[in-house]
Parts: sequence; C-alpha cells; structure tokens
Amino acid sequence: MKHLVWFRNDLRVGDNPALAHACAQPGQVEAVYLAAPEQWRRHGLGDNKLDWIRLNLAALQQRLARLGIPLHIAVAERFEDAADCMVSLMQQRGMSHLYLNAEPGYDEAQRDRQVQQAVQQCGLYWHRFSERNLLEPDSLFNGQGQPYRVFTPFARKARTLLPTVSEPIVSPDPYPLSAPVEPEAQWPLGVSNRFSWQPGEEAAWTRLQDFIEQGVETYHQCRDFPAQSGTSGLSPYLALGIISPVQVYHALSRAGAGEGQQCWLNELLWREFYRYLMHHFPKLSRDQAMYPDKEPIWHNNSAWFERWCQGKTGFALVDAGMRQLNQTGWMHNRTRMLCASFLVKDLHIDWRWGERYFMQQLLDGDFASNNGGWQWAAGCGADAAPYFRHFSPSRQAERFDAQGDYQRRFLPELGDGELHYPNEMIDHKAQSQRFTQMVKEMTHVDES
Ligand code: FAD
Repeated sequence: MKHLVWFRNDLRVGDNPALAHACAQPGQVEAVYLAAPEQWRRHGLGDNKLDWIRLNLAALQQRLARLGIPLHIAVAERFEDAADCMVSLMQQRGMSHLYLNAEPGYDEAQRDRQVQQAVQQCGLYWHRFSERNLLEPDSLFNGQGQPYRVFTPFARKARTLLPTVSEPIVSPDPYPLSAPVEPEAQWPLGVSNRFSWQPGEEAAWTRLQDFIEQGVETYHQCRDFPAQSGTSGLSPYLALGIISPVQVYHALSRAGAGEGQQCWLNELLWREFYRYLMHHFPKLSRDQAMYPDKEPIWHNNSAWFERWCQGKTGFALVDAGMRQLNQTGWMHNRTRMLCASFLVKDLHIDWRWGERYFMQQLLDGDFASNNGGWQWAAGCGADAAPYFRHFSPSRQAERFDAQGDYQRRFLPELGDGELHYPNEMIDHKAQSQRFTQMVKEMTHVDES
C-alpha cells in the first residue's frame, strides 16, 4: 500500500496528525506540496514570502528524507486545479490513500471538498485531520449558545479549556526499511533569500527556546517597543505551520505563569480567536466585514496608496513600519496597528487594499490574523477599535519610539541628529475628523 501526505501550511514533521497517521500504516509514504506560481504571481506575492516558502520546503524535504519519505513539488496553474493534480499524482505513483490536515478559510474548504470528491470517485481513500489549534472552534459558545464576538469572554472561556489541550504528537520514527531519499523537489520560481529567519523546524524550536529562556518574562513590558526585540518573532514559523500552537503552548506551560507568560498566552489566544471567527463567520473569508454598517464609503486613491506602500507618507513611524515590511517581510505589531489605522482612518482607503498588500509582503501572512487585524484597525471587525479612536502617528512615536531608534533604522534620511522628517502628505487631525464624519454619515444612511 502507498500513502500520500499533502503538506500545506503545516510544514513540519512533529505534531502533524496527517503524517503520523500515514506513517503508522503498513506500506510506503510519500509527500507532496502543491505550488501555484501563476496564481501567486497574479496575487502579487512578494519575493520575501516566496523565498520563505521555498527555504522551508527545502528544510522539510531534508527532514522527510531522513524518514525515507520523498517530497514532491507538484505545480498547478490555479488553486482549483488541486483535484486533478492530486488524482494524477496518486495514479501515476500507484498511491491509494491521501492524508492531510485541515486549513481555515472558505476557499480552502471548497478546494478540499473538490479534492475529496475527485479522489473518492477514483476509488482512492481520503483522510482529513483537524488543524492543530489549541481549541476546536465548536467547543466554545457563549451563554446563549452563540459564537463569541468579543475577545475577553472568549479568552476567559478558552483559558478554562486549555488544560485539555492534548500533548504534541511525536514525530514518526525514521522509516526502517529504505535508505534516506535524496532531495529531489524542483522549485518553480527563482528567488533569493533576503531575510534573517532561519528556515526549518530546528530553527523554529531554537527561537522558541531562546524566547522562553530570555524574553517571555519581560514580554508584557517590552512588547510594544518596535526598536527592541521584545517579542518572540515566531509568527513566520506559526504561519507556515513549521511549529504548531500546541507545541508552543506546551513549551510555554512549562515556563511558569508569570505576568509575561500570561500576556504572551493572551496573544496566542488572539490568534485562536481570529481562526474561531473565520470558522463561525465564513463571510469573513469572502471579503466582508463583520459589521458592514460600520464601514464608510471609501475614497480609494491609488497614488496615496502607492505612497503608503512605499513608506513615503511623510509620517516617520508609519514610513519606518512600511519600510520594515518591504525590506524584511515582517513588521512589529505596534507599527502594524499604526500603519493599518493610517491607511484607513487618515487616507480613507479600503482596508481590503491594505490587507492584500500585507498578505503579499508578510512572511507571517496568515489569512485569519491578517483579516482580523485589518478589520480591527478599520473599526468594522469583531471587538474592533471604535471608529472614533484614531492612532496619532506623532503621539505613537513619542510613546513607543521616543529615542527614534526604530525610525532611524529604517529611514536612513533621518541621519543621527534631531528627528526631523518633513512633508506629511495629509493633515492628520483634519483627515481623522473627516473619517469619523464619514462613518456617522454611513450610519445615518443605514438608519433612514
Ligand atoms: P508575539 O508578540 O511574540 O506573539 C506570539 C504569537 O501570537 C505570534 O507569533 C502570533 O502568532 C500571535 N499573535 C500575537 N499578536 C497577535 C494578534 N494581534 N493577532 C493574532 N495573533 C497574534 N499576525 C500574523 O501572524 N499574521 C498576519 O498576517 C498578521 N497580520 C496583521 C495585520 C494587522 C493589521 C495587525 C494589526 C496585526 C497582524 N498580525 C498578524 C498580528 C501581530 O502583529 C503578529 O502576530 C505579531 O506582530 C507577530 O510577531 P511575534 O511572533 O513576535 O509575536
């Protein structure tokens, strides 16, 4: 019997139910990753992101090779071609069983249903396992039996369920019968490595261990200052599933329960919350706001958008954040909030434009967290920042980058002297007031 494991955003060997189940069966195991370069180009995925995927696939391939499992890279034109691709690969290689772990998102669920149908119609077998999140979305409801829409009660309930989180699934033993397989996968796009995260599971564990030993205790004090390395930097690993939240949670639980640890756990729960919302409110993955009546009529201005993308708004902390994103493929959470708020509440551009741009550039681009973050900033999401609360770029800079170290790091034109950064592209106060007015007008239109 031959088994095929389909890797998606779960590029790890440890805590991987699909892989563990396939390896527990008698017979040979092979693995596949489906690349869709045409589609990625159309969606504008940046080089940083493509490179990150490529490097992590190479690392996974080496780990799998040690287990005697070859990893194939199948190339599909489009997302919708997955069914044909899987069936023809299985038939060509005489494989009878397909194993995979679930992913969040409406399109992903549709695609999986199509693949399931095609596989089963050909008399092949299909085994789908739950994603390794901390909580099953169907295990938490409010007192009225409805899904939570507010984070605090969700998190309170979630904390009562955390003791039931299962232990990580151990990695399968090395395949005893065959010699290690030489890496063979061919990557379909030529890109180069330009960032500092090391790929692979070992690197993810090193980062987690370092943070737990050196960073988590002071996390609550340091996490808001973008010039410091006060956060874990684990998001690029979590987003591609190189490490699972279950693995992270168990490592954290062994590290004590101080203020830093509790605060960090809260952030992991935000990640769970956004996935939970995606599950219970499928409209969120269809470009819709949680509360559409809180959206104004947007004034999308391409030239303004371009300046924002390039980090040329004339507001130093906004520009530093955007340039950090463009240069490194990552942005600190404090500046993500500010840059998102600026696009929406100062430039009055649809949050979906910003959401798309972040997904193209971020190594940790995660549909649920990104969508949640953008709707939060735009004021139309679950438990969002109210429409009348605005981030002031200068006030944020005074509070969170008072010495200007972060701004100087990404804006070489500032030099070493006094922070002087001219040419603000808009009047922040006037644009903020206008935004509040726009939302009020919208609410008025809806009511009439
Ligand atoms: P840490 O502070 O060390 O937190 C640990 C982990 O908890 C993170 O790796 C992440 O998985 C999770 N986490 C932390 N904060 C949040 C949060 N606010 N929402 C959801 N999960 C959180 N995070 C992504 O992983 N992918 C995205 O695409 C993404 N897009 C965002 C877009 C906007 C507009 C905003 C405001 C936030 C977004 N975030 C996103 C959340 C957050 O900014 C990043 O998770 C965080 O900066 C990652 O850095 P870290 O790993 O050092 O986080």
